[in-house]
Amino acid sequence: MQRIALLFLLATSTLLYSQTQNNLSYYLPQDVEYNPSIPTPQSVIGHNVGEWHVTHDKLVQYMYALAKASDRITIEDRGKTFEDRPLLLLTITSPQNHQNKDAIQSAHIEATETNATNTADRPVVVYQGFSIHGNEPSGSNASLLVAYYLAAAEGSKIDDLLKNTMILFDPSFNPDGLQRFAYWANTNKNINLNPDPNDREYSEVWPGARTNHYWFDMNRDWLPVQLPESRARIKTFHSWMPNILTDHHEMGTNSSFFFQPGIPSRTHPLTPQLNQELTKGIASYHAKALDKIGSLYYSEESFDDFYYGKGSTFPDINGGIGILFEQASSRGHIQESENGILTFPFTIKNQFTAALSTLEAANGMRMEILEYQHNFFKNARTEASKEGKKAIVFGDEKDAAKTYHLAEILKRHHIKFHDVKSDFSINGKNYKQGYSYIVPKNQKNTRLINAMFEKRTTFQDSLFYDISAWTFPLAFNLDYTETTTAKAGDVVEDLQHLKGGVTSKSEYAYLFEWNEYYSPKLLNAILKKGLRAKVSMKPFKANGKSYDYGTIMIPAKNQDLNTSEIYTFLNDVAQESYINIDAVSTGLNEGIDLGSRNFKALELPKIALLVGDGITSYDAGEIWHLFDTRYDIITTKLDTKSVGKADLSRYNTIIMVSSNSGLNESNTKKLESWLKDGGTLVAYKNALKWLNSKKLMKIDFKKNKMTAKNISYEQRTDFKGAQVIGGAIFEAELDRSHPVNFGYKNDRLALFRNSTLFINPDKNSYNNPIQYTKAPLLSGYISEENLDSISSTVPLKTAKVGRGHIIAFTDNTNFRAFWYGTNKLLMNAIFFREEM
Ligand SMILES: [Zn+2]
Repeated sequence: MQRIALLFLLATSTLLYSQTQNNLSYYLPQDVEYNPSIPTPQSVIGHNVGEWHVTHDKLVQYMYALAKASDRITIEDRGKTFEDRPLLLLTITSPQNHQNKDAIQSAHIEATETNATNTADRPVVVYQGFSIHGNEPSGSNASLLVAYYLAAAEGSKIDDLLKNTMILFDPSFNPDGLQRFAYWANTNKNINLNPDPNDREYSEVWPGARTNHYWFDMNRDWLPVQLPESRARIKTFHSWMPNILTDHHEMGTNSSFFFQPGIPSRTHPLTPQLNQELTKGIASYHAKALDKIGSLYYSEESFDDFYYGKGSTFPDINGGIGILFEQASSRGHIQESENGILTFPFTIKNQFTAALSTLEAANGMRMEILEYQHNFFKNARTEASKEGKKAIVFGDEKDAAKTYHLAEILKRHHIKFHDVKSDFSINGKNYKQGYSYIVPKNQKNTRLINAMFEKRTTFQDSLFYDISAWTFPLAFNLDYTETTTAKAGDVVEDLQHLKGGVTSKSEYAYLFEWNEYYSPKLLNAILKKGLRAKVSMKPFKANGKSYDYGTIMIPAKNQDLNTSEIYTFLNDVAQESYINIDAVSTGLNEGIDLGSRNFKALELPKIALLVGDGITSYDAGEIWHLFDTRYDIITTKLDTKSVGKADLSRYNTIIMVSSNSGLNESNTKKLESWLKDGGTLVAYKNALKWLNSKKLMKIDFKKNKMTAKNISYEQRTDFKGAQVIGGAIFEAELDRSHPVNFGYKNDRLALFRNSTLFINPDKNSYNNPIQYTKAPLLSGYISEENLDSISSTVPLKTAKVGRGHIIAFTDNTNFRAFWYGTNKLLMNAIFFREEM
């Protein structure tokens, strides 16, 4: 009886929630009038905010309707997501500011570049962005209300706010993710809302909607800027230099509401102390507003401001103040939580409230915040001028494309760099024109340059919310060192790829080295065309030119195309890959000749990438993106559920990223017999544990036993956390004669690592082509115990299974699309698999 009464109560209350909480009056301040000529969200999207999850299409429709109806709003489409959705930006301010927008913008930028400024008359610039994680939807749903309020509210308070603020309004940081999540939550919604956390509504299918199209966490890409969504956003950022940038997220259902500052000891040391103090000042506005609506919250106890690739931290190295909001997630429409029933409208209301308190803070602290940014750059200029003629040179004399891509990031961040005046060498590394660039340290964004190029190995704290190192020239595997601007040529205005092509038509053969970043794209195109190509297992000299391990040779004769067709085809694909192909007229070389058995025939890779349950979607997405967008290599995304019915003989290569494989016993057997028949399995990280447990590969893991001594109960989490490698950079030594290392010109390589899997080296040294050095830490945090463990271990293990191969990496070679430097290890595993 009691139970029935409770159920009845629950049922009526959930109905009640859905009825009362969706009205505009539930969300909006009631002490102002609203202009009736401004369309409400409901009048355009067809439902009340919070009643359904807004799809991106409807969000776009509403924002255009608002911009049309309001002289406070202009709208622009800044580009497309991977799924062709628009990347909108609304500019919201007073009609008068709109008329003077260009002048306001240039005065704002000028204040970051000169020693004089007038803070009294300038509006403060606030960039508000929502739901960069698609399945954290309360932000984007709240954006409907925030935009409506800013367009429709009337009276002196809003007029004053709009006069003093320029609002750059980004209603959806992640359109593809938002759309995916709205589909999920809406298609699983009941008329009678069901708060049971076990309902399908609250657990999405793999890979979920947090990420963008290629399964990237876009809130890690603000510094590397590899994704189209980030590119549009960073362009806006640098053209406006916002004083405050907000990033509205969601966290676990049982939490409350979080606003920054985060944990003080985990702030990046390059961020000025005043930044955190101002964040705290702004926080007092959020607290006051949330007190008023009776909403629980906290700050300073979790999250941090360390990695500059996150939205709430990126502004901190650019003279702004980044602020993270985290709302407990109802995920679907209504869910039980430790704090009672958590409704979707309630989560939206908190986000709406924090968005408004941000603007109120910006208005209230306007002069202080403008002054802060002005001084940030003034101080940065003083630091920069002390650097005098100091500069950083970076490059790779054999890989122009990789060098280009780092330069491209600098360009996106408005960092100035020069060509080298003429070729030169420092410490045995050659810096060649077109293959290297010089970055003077005495320039506006000198602090950002430090944040991108520095190596850091000492830290105030031993816990990190994300990675502890991202040193860009290491991630790109480029040579770099300090130099002076005396070596600099012209400033690079128009960054260009190397022009590729074939030197001339040959009746004998063509050669190209394997060093360039896009050489796998070129080779894949050649093999796909059905042309025969071979790889050189030894260096040699032809026509007086040296060719290294891994040089690709394409014979001109005995091919399906005639020599003219081959020449035309190669010229086209060489241009598309920015690579020079040499024509040769004789097979007689210094060292091995072109007919030598040390040239091995290559076969087109036919690749399946395991995806689905049990597989880490980030790691799989990185490979999908790499093949699809950079190398034009077709990959079948093979769901672990489909392995049983799939004909695996269609593939000669299967890639298994970090996972517990997701394969049952019979599919494991199937994989094993495919291997024995000659397949190549490329495996990563935790998949190695699975391979070892299934006895597909014997791996000698190094155990690291940790016992807590003098650690209290309260300290136990920190103790364990300190043993995590959240993401740091380590140095390995390469045996360049091994095919896995073809295309690397140096015998040292920086590797990214975020796991604590350590493999003891093989007793035969030739089986350890990549080995961590004795003291391998280059940049980032690692505990002393783990540093001890990693010393001289190996990140790569290969094994033969029947006629097939397993190539196993402990480390991610494709991290977040910006680790260009280690992509080649994967490409070597794929193209030269038969030689491993
Ligand atoms: Zn988030």
